[in-house]
Amino acid sequence: MAELLKYVRVVIDQETCISCGACIEVCPYDALEFDENMKSRLIWEKCKDDFSCVEACPVNCIYKTPEAPQEYKNRPGWYKLGRDLSAEEQAALAEWRRKFNVGAEPV
Ligand code: SF4
Ligand code: SF4
Repeated sequence: MAELLKYVRVVIDQETCISCGACIEVCPYDALEFDENMKSRLIWEKCKDDFSCVEACPVNCIYKTPEAPQEYKNRPGWYKLGRDLSAEEQAALAEWRRKFNVGAEPV
């Protein structure tokens, strides 16, 4: 489980996002995409916690999960699962949500 606890990920405040695409362009792991409203969305299992996107966002609406306001962590829509997760990944997701009190379900 120690391996799983290192997951940090990012939280996106989609209401502030201006759809510029900078985060999507800079992410080395293709872990961000535009959703149906042209707001940035995280593909949870692809993120590798390098935080390039946090630096790149011109309106500072991407947060390292431990630093994200609770309101944004609870809002639906800002992260999704890109595929079916393995049992280990599901455990990591559950642990990450518990550890950082992420109220939103993945899309
Ligand atoms: S933290 Fe890194 S890997 Fe994760 S979404 Fe941001 S740029 Fe992509
Ligand atoms: S860099 Fe920020 S404003 Fe631009 S698309 Fe990503 S989250 Fe939205």
